Amino acid sequence: MIILDGKKTSNDIKNEITEIVQEMKANGEKVPHLAAVIVGNDGASLTYVGSKVRACERVGFESTMVRLPNTTSETELLKEIKQLNDNPEIDGFIVQLPLPKQIDTQKVLMAVDPDKDVDGFHPTNFGRMALDMSTFIPATPFGILELLDRYGVETQGKHTVVIGRSHIVGRPMSILMGRKGFPGNSTVTLTHSHTKNITQITSQADIIITALGVPGFLKAEMVKDDVVIIDVGITRVPDESRERGYYITGDVDFEHVSKKASYITPVPGGVGPMTIAMLLKNTLLARERHRAAAK
Ligand code: NAP
Repeated sequence: MIILDGKKTSNDIKNEITEIVQEMKANGEKVPHLAAVIVGNDGASLTYVGSKVRACERVGFESTMVRLPNTTSETELLKEIKQLNDNPEIDGFIVQLPLPKQIDTQKVLMAVDPDKDVDGFHPTNFGRMALDMSTFIPATPFGILELLDRYGVETQGKHTVVIGRSHIVGRPMSILMGRKGFPGNSTVTLTHSHTKNITQITSQADIIITALGVPGFLKAEMVKDDVVIIDVGITRVPDESRERGYYITGDVDFEHVSKKASYITPVPGGVGPMTIAMLLKNTLLARERHRAAAK
């Protein structure tokens, strides 16, 4: 069994990006600039955005954090987004989800300029992805592709089962694994909470990607020998015995499933760190596109 080490791989990617940024600086070029908008004081969201900003510093990018109060109206947020769209200094930006209930998330995501949409959530970019065109692939699915690629995990002709159909992970993952090319050329089954006899489906899978957010959902008796397991789930389980008051776990019963798997991602240290690395990669791509467009 081989661990797909997202921590190490994401560090490798960050080192590669750092080198490119140093070269940009040496040539007197503008370095990539990522902005992150956060509305409210949600603890987990602040942690995620903080990690993204720190990752920018680590590779030499410029970064801007836009913090807005929980009471921000939809109109005020849309105005902020317009300013980021119009600001030539900003190459890409993200709006941290979830947003407070007075704001229509879909409307906000639609307002982001697709050329700066480094999260890849805009319908234009999602459509381009589905049509195999060059685009910003959402960071978590992009990170999974990169892990499969760097570890040389065969996907062609394999049966991939995706559990969960969210717009940010499960749905794009099902499209990407089925598209022509590598990683891809897989036969994909997309499952969700209405899927019947899910064990019958997972036990035939060569590759299983879990993105449902139910700790320990995938058990050893649900998988066949030599299966490849990608666990996207991140759940904070309350635990008084720990200093932080919780521990992080995935959707897979790692202890038992790992004994049958050929490759498996741990939680934490698997898909999670890859997500930030790929956000940086998308921001670099945005800078390169803007530079090419300015010529
Ligand atoms: P989500 O919006 O929370 O939706 C969950 C999906 O799982 C839905 O499609 C739901 O089906 C399906 N589901 C729920 N219970 C199920 C069951 N018993 N059997 C089969 N399917 C079931 O999904 P998400 O935003 O992708 O998040 C999923 C997990 O990934 C969470 O733990 C989240 O924290 C984590 N995550 C991690 C990263 C990362 O960087 N590693 C990034 C994003 C998310 P229905 O559609 O029928 O409701």
